[in-house]
Amino acid sequence: MEKREQLYEGKAKKVFLTDDPELLIVSYKDDATAFNGLKKGTITGKGVINNKMSNLLMQKLDKEAGVPTHFVEELSDRDTVVKKVSIVPLEVIIRNIAAGSFSKNYGVEEGVVFDQPTIEFSYKNDDLGDPLINDYHALALKLATPEEIETIKKYAFAVNDYLKAYWKARGVILVDFKLEFGRLSDGTIVLADEISPDTCRFWDAETKEKLDKDRFRRDLGGVEDAYAEIMGRLS
Ligand code: ADP
Ligand code: UDP
Repeated sequence: MEKREQLYEGKAKKVFLTDDPELLIVSYKDDATAFNGLKKGTITGKGVINNKMSNLLMQKLDKEAGVPTHFVEELSDRDTVVKKVSIVPLEVIIRNIAAGSFSKNYGVEEGVVFDQPTIEFSYKNDDLGDPLINDYHALALKLATPEEIETIKKYAFAVNDYLKAYWKARGVILVDFKLEFGRLSDGTIVLADEISPDTCRFWDAETKEKLDKDRFRRDLGGVEDAYAEIMGRLS
């Protein structure tokens, strides 16, 4: 499988066409951005880590949690073949513990543990700054059908149940994460994009040390070490 023309260059990945119209190659970069692109930088080695972590977790989710994904084949350290989807323009965020925008928006101290996970949607639209929306807004904006929204919620909670336990067994607390879903050509909803320290908050269970992109967002230092540490706990 070879890369044909570049379809898209995003903030963290490039996306290429292939000779198969149903397949794409995504190529993970070391570029890092935060605050809707306002903060820019490089995290050396990040692309390799995010590629490998995302691929491993997606294969497990497919086999062990009943969540279909776009993953097809890892080609190299940074490149992966995925099924081409039409992305549902929703950022699906699950939270187990208050942090980030939840703490800021609702005045809750970071680290407060919820009795049950929350789910929220942002409208994936950089020009609008990915505004928080509810199910009814998603329907009004025709971003997805009611059935698709139900499927997406079911899969998102299944991902959380699986990954929370997976990381707990490796001494890591899964605080929150963002997922993206897409439609295959036959309309089937599958998990797409990536699952990585760019899109999840991971805290060391013992020390509560942050092992994710918050080290970059908040200038905490030790960014590369944190990515290497969380990668080292993968199995
Ligand atoms: P962004 O667009 O937010 O800057 P990236 O740099 O990660 O993000 O770019 C990857 C793009 O590819 C995203 O827009 C994502 O929605 C899209 N994408 C992810 N998986 C697939 C897929 N299987 N098919 C089509 N597009 C995808
Ligand atoms: N997230 C993401 N992409 C985004 C926004 C959020 O991957 O565009 C992830 C983020 O890494 C965290 C979770 O979603 O794991 C919740 O993020 P939050 O809403 O707290 O946003 P932030 O603190 O980044 O403003």
